[in-house]
Amino acid sequence: MDRETFGLLLDTVRRFVEARLIPNEDRVEAEDAVPDEIITEMRDLGLFGLSVPVEYGGLGLTMAEESAVAFEFGRTAFAFRSVFGTTVGIGSQGIVVDGTEAQKGEWLPRLASGERIASFALTEPDAGSDAASIRLAAKRDGDVYRLNGTKRYITNAPRAGLFTVMARTDPETEGARGISAFIVPAETPGISFGKADKKMGQRGTVTCDVIFNDVAVPAANIIGGVPGRGFKTAMKALDRGRIHIAALAAGMCDRLLNEQVSYAVERRQFGQAIGNFQLIQGMIADSRVDAYAARVLVTDVASKFDAGEAQAADIASAKYFATEAAGRVADRAVQIHGGAGYMVDSKVERFYRDVRLLRIYEGTSQIQQVIIAKSLLRSAGLPPASAA
Ligand SMILES: Cc1cc2nc3c(=O)[nH]c(=O)nc-3n(C[C@H](O)[C@H](O)[C@H](O)COP(=O)(O)OP(=O)(O)OC[C@H]3O[C@@H](n4cnc5c(N)ncnc54)[C@H](O)[C@@H]3O)c2cc1C
Repeated sequence: MDRETFGLLLDTVRRFVEARLIPNEDRVEAEDAVPDEIITEMRDLGLFGLSVPVEYGGLGLTMAEESAVAFEFGRTAFAFRSVFGTTVGIGSQGIVVDGTEAQKGEWLPRLASGERIASFALTEPDAGSDAASIRLAAKRDGDVYRLNGTKRYITNAPRAGLFTVMARTDPETEGARGISAFIVPAETPGISFGKADKKMGQRGTVTCDVIFNDVAVPAANIIGGVPGRGFKTAMKALDRGRIHIAALAAGMCDRLLNEQVSYAVERRQFGQAIGNFQLIQGMIADSRVDAYAARVLVTDVASKFDAGEAQAADIASAKYFATEAAGRVADRAVQIHGGAGYMVDSKVERFYRDVRLLRIYEGTSQIQQVIIAKSLLRSAGLPPASAA
């Protein structure tokens, strides 16, 4: 997108966040749902198509541009971004990066317009961080594969019109090589949902189990048309997703820093604003450093990604640092607010719970640490261990 058009888009997003989303944060928390009229406005703004290439009806943003947009959405309740987040990120990117021309032409325009929401179904009851151990079975039966098994914690599942499902097409091959990624329309018979998960935070987001009972999916729906490549496809989708989550975290660091500063100016103790106390200033300074460093790291890795130069360890570093930083900044925000920060009607209490998830999904902090350390150790000649 040219600079000027992107500048206009970013201004529109900023105004939307300020004028429509921040004022609706309490409503989302109270109703545990994002209002339908806001979802319609998101469609009209083209948010579902941020990362879909222009030729398939999307805005075709680069990673650097998408990160700038995600940064703005990080300044408000994450539930808003979650409505289009899986469609922009992990749900669609498998098709964008590895799909056949026919698959892209059939599905991407519907995702970009928001006609269908995409969900990404990798995690299972017994396979989380060890994603290569998934067991959901896809057994060939003529022109179709029959899918049987359960996926867990799937974001947007009840809203989804399409699932990107990682399944084991080759039961003989353990690990990543036996896995294929399928495009599964949500109306396919045999798909059902578990009860909505009750979560610590991020009210207004929806996750639940997705149960596949003899779901017949055409062999032509394997992403890229070739079985056995699904794990790689999932990891590529997660690379982009992790940068997006890091940008979101950096945005929330900024919001929480603002909350800290305003409260420190407004709240008085010992006859003066608490902002005059150096111990409060220390917390504000540390939060500013976290927010700034997170933003710079995300910006750097996003431009490397666009240049095709981002290593897995670079992406993991950004996800790890920015999400842990958001945790630290949220913790300080509660501390600066004192008792008021512990009350459920305070924004910082809510954001403190909301940011906790960032360190868990799309790869836990420990998995990011493992990726970072292994890349250095392998380069230094350490051979892979038999386990972990
Ligand atoms: C709200 C929410 C939404 C989600 N949305 C989706 C979604 O849309 N699609 C989807 O597919 N998944 C989704 N997930 C799943 C999420 O990605 C997983 O929860 C996450 O990857 C961790 O897996 P796990 O929960 O099984 O934890 P586990 O893998 O069981 O991890 C438990 C602990 O062990 C640590 N650990 C595991 N392996 C190692 C290791 N090798 N070295 C060091 N420590 C290790 C972990 O870091 C963690 O601390 C979602 C989860 C949540 C909570």
